[in-house]
Amino acid sequence: MRINQITNWAYGVTVVLTVLSGTAFILSSRSATQERVAVEQHLKLDALAEDLALGAEERSDEARLYVMRGDERHLAGFYLKEDAERRLEEAIGGVQQYGVTPPELALLKQVEQKAEELDRIELAAIEAYRTGDRQGAQQMLFADEHVRLQTELLESVDQFRKMTTQRTESALEAARQRSDLLGFAARIMLTMTAAVFIGVLYFVLKRRVSVPLTRMTGIVTRLAKQDYAVEVPLDMRRDEIGEMNDAIHIFRENGLERARLDAERRQDQATKDLILQMMHRLQACQVQAELAEVVARFAPQIFPSLAGQLFMLNDSRTQLSLLGSWLDPKNSASSFPMGACWGLRRGHPHLSNRGESDITCQHLEENALSGLCVPLIALGDMIGLLYFEERSGEAFEVEPSRLYLELIAENVGLAAANLQLREKLTNMAIRDALTGLLNRRSLDETLNRYIREQAQHPLICLMIDIDHFKRFNDLHGHDAGDAVMQYASQIFVDTVKDAGSIYRFGGEEFTVLMPDIDHAAGFKIAEKLRTAISTTPFSHRGRVLGHISVSVGIASSPTGGSAATLMTRADAALLEAKSAGRNVTISSDQPKLVMKQG
Ligand code: GH3
Ligand code: MG
Ligand code: MG
Repeated sequence: MRINQITNWAYGVTVVLTVLSGTAFILSSRSATQERVAVEQHLKLDALAEDLALGAEERSDEARLYVMRGDERHLAGFYLKEDAERRLEEAIGGVQQYGVTPPELALLKQVEQKAEELDRIELAAIEAYRTGDRQGAQQMLFADEHVRLQTELLESVDQFRKMTTQRTESALEAARQRSDLLGFAARIMLTMTAAVFIGVLYFVLKRRVSVPLTRMTGIVTRLAKQDYAVEVPLDMRRDEIGEMNDAIHIFRENGLERARLDAERRQDQATKDLILQMMHRLQACQVQAELAEVVARFAPQIFPSLAGQLFMLNDSRTQLSLLGSWLDPKNSASSFPMGACWGLRRGHPHLSNRGESDITCQHLEENALSGLCVPLIALGDMIGLLYFEERSGEAFEVEPSRLYLELIAENVGLAAANLQLREKLTNMAIRDALTGLLNRRSLDETLNRYIREQAQHPLICLMIDIDHFKRFNDLHGHDAGDAVMQYASQIFVDTVKDAGSIYRFGGEEFTVLMPDIDHAAGFKIAEKLRTAISTTPFSHRGRVLGHISVSVGIASSPTGGSAATLMTRADAALLEAKSAGRNVTISSDQPKLVMKQG
C-alpha cells in the first residue's frame, strides 16, 4: 500500500476515533446534566410532598385551636393555610413535567384526596363552631376519622417521598453508569487514536521511510561515486519508496550499461591504437621476416584469444609457406597448396566450421573444429594468408572482430606487397636481370665502401671472362649465349657459396669479391669454379653444345696491394690469362701461380 494511502487511512481513522471519543465525552457530560435534573426534580417533588404534609397538619392545628379557643386569628390562619393548600393542589397538576411516574402521581392524588377530606371535616367543624356547636366541632376535629385521615395522608406523603427518592436514586445510578461507560469508551478511543497516530508515525516514518531512505542514501552515494558494484535490492512495495527504489535500480542499470559501453569504447580504442601502431611498424618493415615479427607481436595483443599464422605465396603463386605464427596455433599445416584454402580460392575471408554451416579448408587438421582464413590481397593480387583459430579450441566467433581482422589483413597485405615491390625495385637496381647476380653498380659501391672505410681485413678479387664467347654467340645464337651466361653464373654461385659475392661486371665478364680469406684459399676457389665450368658439357634446348671455359685473374688486398688497385690488378691478371691461352687462373700478386687446363 502506498504511504499516501496509509497516511490517508490513518488520518481518516484518527478523525473517526476523535469524533467518536468527542461524542462519547459529550454524551457523558449530558448524563451528568441528566443527573442534576433528576436531583433537582427529586428535590422539588420532595419539597412538594413535605409542604402538602406540613400544610395539612398546620391547617388541622389552626382549625382545632379555633374550635378550642374561639380565637379569630386561628380561623384566619386556617384560611391562609387553605389558600396555600389550594396552590399546592394546583401544583400537583403540573408535577408531570418533573418526570413523575403514574404510581407516584396516584399517591399524590391520594394525598390530595385525603387533604380535601380533612379540609371538608375541618370546614364542617368550623361551621359547627360558628353555629354554636362547640362540642360537636371539637368532636369532629378530634374524632378517629380525622386522625385516620391525617395518618393516612402522612403515610401517603411518606411513601411518595420514598418512591421519588428510589426513582431518583436509580435514575442517578443509571446516569452515572452511562456516564462512566461513555467516559471509558471516550478514553479507550482517545487511547486508540494516540496508538494509531504513534503506530502510523512509527510504521511510516521509521519502517517505511527512515530505514529504506537511509539504505537508499548509502546506495545513491556509492552510485554517485560510480561504484556500480553496489547491490540495489528489489523492493516489491508499490509505494513512493518502492518507486524511488525502482528509479535507483534503473539508474544503476543505466550506470552499468554506460560503464560497459565506456569499457567497450576504451577497449575498442585500445584495439584501434594497437592496430594503428601495428600499421606504422608494418610500413617500416624492410624484409618479410620483420613483417612476420610485427604481426606476431601485435596480433596477440589485439586478439588475445586468437592464435594465428601468417603465410606467404611463393613466386609461382602455387604454394603457401609459413612466415610467422603466434600463440601456438595447432590446426593448420605449415605449408600447403593454394587450392587447399577456400579463402584463397574465393578471395574472401572463409570461416571453416566443421560440421556446421560451411565447408572446411583442406589445410586444417582433421580434428580441427574451426578456423578463419583471411586472404592477403594487395592491388588485386593474392599474396598470402592470415589464419586465426580460437586458443580455447572452441568454435570461432567471427562477428565481434570481423572488421578488425579484415583491416589487419588488408594492411598486412599492403605492407607485404610494398615489401615485395621494394625488393623487386631494389633487385632491379642492384642485380642483373639476365643472371640474377649483383650488377656493376653494386660492385662499385662495395669496393668504394671498402676503400672509404680503409678496411684492413683481407679481400680477394676474381675477374672472370668467358672464353671465345662471341664465337659461341655467333655459332648458336644469342639465346644460347644468354643461357651460357646463366649457366656459368649458377656454377659461380654454387662454387663460391657464402665465401663471397658475385657480380656481373659487364658483357661476359664477372667479378667475385671474397672477404676474410687468404690468397691461397681465394685461388683455390677460382680454380674450383674454372674447373667446374670447363669439365661440364653445356647443353641447350636438349642439344649438347660442347664445353665452355673461363679465364680468371686473381688479386688480393692488402697483401698484394691497396684496395683501390685491386680491380685493376685482377683485370691485368685476367688479361695475362687470356694471353696465356685462356682457361687459366693467373694471380697478379704471384704470377708464378698459373694453372692451365688442357
Ligand atoms: P675472348 O676469349 O678474348 O674474351 O673473346 P670473346 O669473344 O669472348 O670476347 P669479345 O670481347 O670479342 O666478345 C664478347 C662478346 O660477348 C661480344 C658480345 O656480342 C657478347 N655479349 C656481350 N654481352 C652479351 C649478352 O648479354 N648476351 C649475349 N648473348 N652476348 C653478349
Ligand atoms: Mg670479354
Ligand atoms: Mg670473352
